Amino acid sequence: MVRLADPTHVASEDATTPDARKTAGAARRQQRLWYHLGLPVPIPGRMPAPRQSLAGGEGRRVDYRKKFVVEPDSKVDLARVDPKFTGKLSSEADAKAELDAHCERFTKLQYLLYADGTQSLLVVLQGMDASGKDGTVRHVFRDIDPQGITVRSFKVPTPEELAHDFLWRVHAAAPRRGSVAIFNRSHYEDVLVARVHELVPKEVWSKRYGRIVDFEKNLVQSDTHILKFFLHISPEEQLRRFKQRLEDPARQWKISESDYTERDYWDDYVRAYEAALEKTSTERAPWFIIPSDHKWFRDLVVSTIIVDTLEDLHMRLPQPHVNLADIARKYHAADAKGSLG
Ligand code: AMP
Ligand code: MG
Repeated sequence: MVRLADPTHVASEDATTPDARKTAGAARRQQRLWYHLGLPVPIPGRMPAPRQSLAGGEGRRVDYRKKFVVEPDSKVDLARVDPKFTGKLSSEADAKAELDAHCERFTKLQYLLYADGTQSLLVVLQGMDASGKDGTVRHVFRDIDPQGITVRSFKVPTPEELAHDFLWRVHAAAPRRGSVAIFNRSHYEDVLVARVHELVPKEVWSKRYGRIVDFEKNLVQSDTHILKFFLHISPEEQLRRFKQRLEDPARQWKISESDYTERDYWDDYVRAYEAALEKTSTERAPWFIIPSDHKWFRDLVVSTIIVDTLEDLHMRLPQPHVNLADIARKYHAADAKGSLG
């Protein structure tokens, strides 16, 4: 079956030798895949156009992975990362088209991940209260087929969870092959709130960094790709967002006094975050520090990093496991004769 509008239906009549025909056939199959995925179809003999982005200005694409990654074994000083940073972009309008494009790409890449079925993606979101973890889930993952994704929000552990080791509840929420899992808060709470409020003694939480690294290595070895985002906001921006909640009847139910009293521990949380980022950012499970005072910039950067990572996997649709010509002959012969209906 050939759809007339299908631009990949490139004839290979001019391929005269068997080798040339084989190459033309492979190129055509590749093009059909691009077409199926809704990507710009490359013209034979020409390189696909480089991806463009306004984010770098003058059409240059910024490598946000490189820019915001916490290099393994490096020192982290959060005071040196400006939460208001937006690069050369100055407003949400500058980022909108690109975010929309990323959401669309992400949908297609998630479909490939699902079809491929051999690997998975884990996205960890951490940050102070009101840093935008929920908003990131809503905006960056908005177009993903819900069947291919799970979101787990980690709250204060239940008695059942506390009766197990701290990774028990987390491991159970890790993504299955072919799917994406989002952790809204995560096992990192056990070296953040647990450290700041001394929920367990130092000799307990201090050993957890190594256990977290080993745990994530185990996931990576089971073909899970891990991206960890620290949504970095300023205390002033947090207070501004709390005030907005206070003035918004639809969100007043979210407010608790502890949101405000936790602000007294801001510096302790900063130290705990710095330690966690330093000790657990690895090549295969990297942390990214995302400037998040501007929600639109946060969404743009997180979506860019996810899409770039999935694109680097060069996933392909699996080969059909049946003989398509046989199936067409056996079950669709009637279509060809026009005798259906
Ligand atoms: P929220 O994200 O605002 O719904 O709040 C969830 C709360 O659960 C936060 O105050 C977290 O610090 C807390 N929390 C999550 N995981 C843990 C943990 N492992 N130990 C203690 N508190 C936790
Ligand atoms: Mg909260």
